[in-house]
Amino acid sequence: MNVLVLNAGSSSLKFQLIATSAEQIATDTDEWLARGVIERIGGNSLLTLEVPGGGKHRESAPVRDHRAALDHVLRWLTAPPEGLHILDSLSQIDAVGHRVVHGGEYFRSSVLINDAVRQRIEDTIDLAPLHNPHNLRVIQAARAALGEGIPQAAVFDTSFHHTLPDYAYLYALPYSLYRRHRVRRYGFHGTSHRYVAYRYRRITGRAREETNLITLHLGNGCSACAISRGDSVDTSMGFTPLEGLVMGTRSGDLDPAILDYIAVKEGMSLPEVESLLNKQSGLLGISGLTNDMRELIAEAVEEDDRRARLALQIFAYRARKYIGSYLAAMGGADAIVFTGGIGENSPEVRQMVCEGLEWMGLQLDGGANLTAVGGREQQIGSEGTRLGAWVIPTNEELLIARDTVRLVLGLSTRF
Ligand code: ADP
Repeated sequence: MNVLVLNAGSSSLKFQLIATSAEQIATDTDEWLARGVIERIGGNSLLTLEVPGGGKHRESAPVRDHRAALDHVLRWLTAPPEGLHILDSLSQIDAVGHRVVHGGEYFRSSVLINDAVRQRIEDTIDLAPLHNPHNLRVIQAARAALGEGIPQAAVFDTSFHHTLPDYAYLYALPYSLYRRHRVRRYGFHGTSHRYVAYRYRRITGRAREETNLITLHLGNGCSACAISRGDSVDTSMGFTPLEGLVMGTRSGDLDPAILDYIAVKEGMSLPEVESLLNKQSGLLGISGLTNDMRELIAEAVEEDDRRARLALQIFAYRARKYIGSYLAAMGGADAIVFTGGIGENSPEVRQMVCEGLEWMGLQLDGGANLTAVGGREQQIGSEGTRLGAWVIPTNEELLIARDTVRLVLGLSTRF
């Protein structure tokens, strides 16, 4: 089955075409046939296409909206530039899988999209005004372009966290705010946490019920997840993806009284303060230099920049505190798993996060940590330690494609 995976951001559309089936899932032999991204939709966009074997194409062109972006992707799949070959016709696309950011309280797992599902996603727009409208637009556009007969699935960032107990997802606010407005912790990055936990089980041969992990997704956005007996039982992102760890431009946890204080002192409106917390804080805000971890490490190491070093310290310290609190919440874990652009590629950050945790049985193998870069699954903890450590590259697109196939075949997506 060829599944087109679509991930619509506010001004981007990422896509990947994946050939998969029940048998390929069982044997881990799914294949990607094409992938790419259209960035800066609405202006002069940047379009990138990649096919297996090293074929790459880049161009810039005006792309009006997400509908036009999807049309461009579909044209590329059947008539790719520079003699690349992907598909003979669009009829070779068997299903579409969409990443949808927010499933609210309703969607506890991935679903095939019908009118009722579309309506429910629309009902959650209030909770994710920056994301869900784009997801819906691309769902509509795919239906218009490929026809009603092609099944489409929605895979939610939030649904993996539906197993959080109420004492973990409720804030200590008046309960009426939860009842009236559904103010609670939802958690995000669920597809990534779920994928690396699944890979950990495959690599180590453990059953789902025996899997107790702390997964750290460290990319532009960062989150931690406590996984007990295979289920998410706590996670650091909350009502929105702003809470929790320090991120590229997001502050993560802070005292909510700071919002009003900054607004008064800086003469800003609350939406302006919220934008500052989302776009000008985190690594960028502390360092005053960059939100990019690679550049930040270079500034700290090569230029000995004090604020770059401080940003790294605050980043690692926050992550370490979450590891400690999740170990307490879960009563221990088997391993910590690093993923995301930073988690998969930065031995320095992994080392800093794990520093001083030897007393709780975590000891990195320096050599293994150094070589675990560039998309390799690798154990980085020393042999025989009580708390293991792994690097497992995430692959949200693959999990979306697999969920789509499972739904089309009528199989459960809880695996
Ligand atoms: P997104 O969350 O947007 O998918 P990624 O998961 O790709 O982002 O993560 C991007 C982050 O990963 C950036 O901060 C980037 O600097 C960082 N990163 C990528 N490669 C390295 C590396 N070799 N060392 C340190 N950080 C890296």
